[in-house]
Amino acid sequence: MPVTVGVLALQGAFFEHVQLLKKAAEQESLAGWEFIEVRTPQELAQCDGLVLPGGESTTMSLNKGKGGLTDANVATIGVHRKPVWGTCAGLILLAESANKTKKGGQELIGGLDVRVNRNHFGRQTESFQAPLELPFLGQGAAPFPTVFIRAPIVERILPHHKGIQTEEVNLEETVVAPSRQAKGPAAEAATADHVEVLATLSRPASVIATQGRDLSPEKELGDIVAVQQGNVFGTSFHPELTGDARIHAWWLRQVQAAVLRRNKLGQ
Ligand code: GLN
Repeated sequence: MPVTVGVLALQGAFFEHVQLLKKAAEQESLAGWEFIEVRTPQELAQCDGLVLPGGESTTMSLNKGKGGLTDANVATIGVHRKPVWGTCAGLILLAESANKTKKGGQELIGGLDVRVNRNHFGRQTESFQAPLELPFLGQGAAPFPTVFIRAPIVERILPHHKGIQTEEVNLEETVVAPSRQAKGPAAEAATADHVEVLATLSRPASVIATQGRDLSPEKELGDIVAVQQGNVFGTSFHPELTGDARIHAWWLRQVQAAVLRRNKLGQ
């Protein structure tokens, strides 16, 4: 089964994603899979799944036009129910709402009904690594070596009521994606899925990593760092900067399932 997986290559850690996707495909014995860098609408059109890497979301957003890509182009891959995965800056671009963003300064692609809090843990120097249990990798899986670099977290799962976009955009320094304004059956199907929280980071783990101090257990609230809504998946951290291909392998199995579903439906 020939399958093409793309990595948006406008800026950031796209090369690392391609390398780890290839490693994951080898581990999963996926023969005939191709991994390509995506900069143009033609390259995007070949993809059965797309990764949006970590890096700088504002720069990615500004670079898009150079190869002729638009947010609408990228959003269509999600509307066609093809798997899309955003890591860090990629998660910001896939969010329906992002704070700490100047109005007009950044365009979101959307697809995940969440609001992200950008740079949640602070600046570059407050980057950290933490071993994290990821239940979706299977029971008893060893903790994953997560890397957080000026990472966003999901601070709100947005309800599906009308007018939510207006409420969000009225907040200070908050921008929203235009994607939910689309009408028709595809747009409705996309919002029918609910946001599932796949992983949280306990606050002491992140605070200890960044500030080196302990907190009392009752303050142990989790920060949401991995979510999935239908075919759209987002992680706050950077699996592409580790040698660990388990999340990439898990996601490739999702792409495989989506391709099989589409082939069955004859689309
Ligand atoms: N904070 C960055 C942004 O807003 C994302 C950082 C990252 O991808 N490591 O784009």
